[in-house]
Amino acid sequence: MSHRMRTLTEPFKIKMVEPLRVTTEEYRNDILKKSGYNPFLLRSHDVFIDLLTDSGTGAMSDKQWGGIMTGDESYAGARSWEHLESVVKDLTSMPYILPTHQGRAAERILYGILGGKVKVFISNTHFDTTRANIEFTGATAIDIVYDVAKDPEIDLPFKGNIDLEKLQVLIKEHGRENIAAVIITVTNNSSGGQPVSMANVKGLRKICDEHNLLMVIDGCRIAENAYFVKHREPGFETKTYKEIAQEMLALGDAFIMSAKKDGLVNIGGLLTMKDEELSIKCKNLLIISEGFTTYGGLAGRDMEALAIGLEEVFDADYLHYRIRSTAYLGENLKAKGVPVVWPIGGHAVYIDAKKLYNSIPVEQYPGQALVCDLYTKGGIRCVEVGSVMFGKYDEAGKLIPAQNELVRLAIPRRVYTQSHIDYVLDVFDDILDMRKQTTGYRITYEPPFLRHFTARFEKI
Ligand SMILES: *Cc1c(COP(=O)(O)O)cnc(C)c1O
Repeated sequence: MSHRMRTLTEPFKIKMVEPLRVTTEEYRNDILKKSGYNPFLLRSHDVFIDLLTDSGTGAMSDKQWGGIMTGDESYAGARSWEHLESVVKDLTSMPYILPTHQGRAAERILYGILGGKVKVFISNTHFDTTRANIEFTGATAIDIVYDVAKDPEIDLPFKGNIDLEKLQVLIKEHGRENIAAVIITVTNNSSGGQPVSMANVKGLRKICDEHNLLMVIDGCRIAENAYFVKHREPGFETKTYKEIAQEMLALGDAFIMSAKKDGLVNIGGLLTMKDEELSIKCKNLLIISEGFTTYGGLAGRDMEALAIGLEEVFDADYLHYRIRSTAYLGENLKAKGVPVVWPIGGHAVYIDAKKLYNSIPVEQYPGQALVCDLYTKGGIRCVEVGSVMFGKYDEAGKLIPAQNELVRLAIPRRVYTQSHIDYVLDVFDDILDMRKQTTGYRITYEPPFLRHFTARFEKI
């Protein structure tokens, strides 16, 4: 038996509170049934601990709320825009900075210009909105993480890296003229929030230079990635987190950010680049669809809060708390005997539901069963990342399951304390006790696309 780790004290104190509603298991059973056993269809009011996503769910600081009050709402050339632009220029060393209402707007603009039929995009792993914006233009999106990193248990420091050997093969196969861009996602959200090393990004830069390819950094968790580089990659021990992020971003030709993650704000996005000609095309689309170039889709107060958030996120005490508190949940689950994807990534803990609920066949969605049990037992909301999300059907209508049946517990930034996380750990004791009795689910309704959001289920 492992003993509990030392208390991980939050490097902030609470100035304003948002009450959480305590409900009974009986109530939650009833509500979940009415919601078709799909937590996406629950009202947040009925959720006690919400681990559905880390996107836009963080808490702002007193300084950021101060910025909200002093934001400049002028249509053009606002002071808040100048503030944001100078912070982002300093971080990225890119001259052209475009604000957007969130990450996918930046993706739609950039990939709308670069994409089109016959074009190919290559990434460590395309995030779902990235892939959707690319495929919407008729282009193809190819994911190439290293094969070894697909093993959920193998302990490697940088499982988010892009496979540079496979990239060389793909360049030969498709021809450099057909490759619209190479996108490096840091940290790699869709493969467990795993980090990318500086050496990997440097190697990628070299290949992009050799073949004259555009290199885009999808860096909405660039600060969390910098933490892993400092603590896992030799040569970065004495650098600050911000210096590491600056060094990595300087390697890119363009940078896309959903500010809802490491921007520490509830809405916002960024698109930055080095090339003037490309920036003019992007600005034209920005003005048509988002807003004038000095506000994108954002209010002046949003830009002010984001400018402040982008500085706060590199605070050493904050980042230590952020990464260690995610690991605290993951490591303690592992110690209890809950199978987790290893090592623990930056923003979420992933549970291997196929292993935990090994009595439920994949056709009966063990991940969905765990998601439902966590809600009924503890009021905890999280998401299945398995055959409900990625499963397909063959011609006979039989399920082609996903590679893994995972459940993601995403941690909002600066929202929950260690006692909330200890509560989540306690609920897992109940899950471990009941795991042999729990049952699977069948789908009673599903839409043709992105079915996990609106599908309905019944208990078998
Ligand atoms: C969240 C996210 C996006 C999309 O950003 P939105 O702000 O949700 O539109 C793009 N890429 C990655 C890696 C993300 O995590």
